[in-house]
Amino acid sequence: MNYLSTRGHPDRKRFCEILLEGLAPDGGLYLPEQYPQIDTATLAKWRKLPYAELAFEILSLYIDDIPPADLKAICAKTYTAEVFGTDEIVPLRELEDGVYLEALSNGPTLAFKDMAMQLLGNLFEYELARRGAELNILGATSGDTGSAAEYAMRGKKGVRVFMTSPDGRMSPFQQAQMFSLQDANIHNIAITGVFDDCQDIVKAVSNDLAFKRKYRIGTVNSINWARLLAQVVYYFAGYFQATASNDKPVSFTVPSGNFGNVCAGHVARMMGLPVHTLVVATNENDVLDEFFRTGVYRVRGAVDTHETSSPSMDISKASNFERFVFDLVGRDPARLRKLFVDDLGLNGSFDLSADPAFAQAAGRFGFRSGRSTHADRLATIRDTDKRFATLVDPHTADGLKAAREQLTPGVPMVVLETALPIKFAATLVEALGEEPARPKKFEGIEALPKRVVKLPADAEAVKAYIAEHCD
Ligand SMILES: *Cc1c(COP(=O)(O)O)cnc(C)c1O
Repeated sequence: MNYLSTRGHPDRKRFCEILLEGLAPDGGLYLPEQYPQIDTATLAKWRKLPYAELAFEILSLYIDDIPPADLKAICAKTYTAEVFGTDEIVPLRELEDGVYLEALSNGPTLAFKDMAMQLLGNLFEYELARRGAELNILGATSGDTGSAAEYAMRGKKGVRVFMTSPDGRMSPFQQAQMFSLQDANIHNIAITGVFDDCQDIVKAVSNDLAFKRKYRIGTVNSINWARLLAQVVYYFAGYFQATASNDKPVSFTVPSGNFGNVCAGHVARMMGLPVHTLVVATNENDVLDEFFRTGVYRVRGAVDTHETSSPSMDISKASNFERFVFDLVGRDPARLRKLFVDDLGLNGSFDLSADPAFAQAAGRFGFRSGRSTHADRLATIRDTDKRFATLVDPHTADGLKAAREQLTPGVPMVVLETALPIKFAATLVEALGEEPARPKKFEGIEALPKRVVKLPADAEAVKAYIAEHCD
């Protein structure tokens, strides 16, 4: 399997070459040259497989530069009941007639990002050992991504993590999750500033090419193809649990921010999984909902990006969206470049409303969308508690609301549960008047010793810290 760039760079790469990279050299995103096609016999065989073996089968179609026995061992070591809480790994439960919740949030940090990040940690360790190389991961987080990355990379050979976060702005639970890690290869850096300052620092350090090369700086952001690929697996696993045979269509609703999660659903559908509809659920930051309703993709400025009670969906632009648009415009890199380089660069938006391709987003590709507000989230959390004695987090609540607006009679609707309610306790208290129960292993974590340094919002200070902590 070879990988190409959405912006037309002539080079083709193998999986392990792009594993440790971010953007392609021309600024595009990597995608496989074609999507492997799954026939009904293969689906029938896969239906019976435990999660780790299903992951191996799917990953094998995209990774041909890791020996199969090694890849199988990596999958087996990643997707265990010990790490993810159950043998099913992503258990499905029916909420009401035809509406299901797929649990993706029972990993170490209680959000779905563990599903991909845990695999990435093991792939990084494997590939770095093979090359005899090291990697220093520099990131910026306001919560879920940073903790998922740290729990995936802790104790891994050849990898260090330098994670910046805005000082005092994460929830006490999220701070405790990250700062209580005592592993020598994990460095928490609290920046006196806001999340944008952290992102600017990461950008500034990455743009210093000499520093980047000397200190082998890498990232783990959601445009990484390996993360997206890992997420394809749970669409298959959810499908098999929601159906008794492989001729039945299933729809999925995905609480969306950077379009990584739902893009994995798109890939599963392109492979031939019988997916009826993919519902993109957004909050007040509705850049994606606007596109799927109108054909206009208009990225937001900082002042138009709202801080909401589903903060992991608070985005101004969706960094993985370019992958889907590439397929939408018939994989034509010239058209893609016109939209993402010329139009977005010049106007901050592009308009496909009059383009026949736009009709295919809903038609050929099965996309729908929905939007919710803070009041909707509170109402959905209350309703789900009252009618089904089930607590959902605010992101999953955004999903449930959008899902109910897009039901098709006779077609199961699977809503992806992207975090556990305890991570967003303040909103649960606002909705229900009480804190959700917390899993045993997180009791009292706020009182644990914290390992964090405070630095000013200054890229030079962060560079000096990195230099001092890499031998
Ligand atoms: C990251 C995240 C999302 C958004 O996922 P994308 O892949 O960026 O679309 C939604 N919910 C939660 C809880 C998250 O952590």
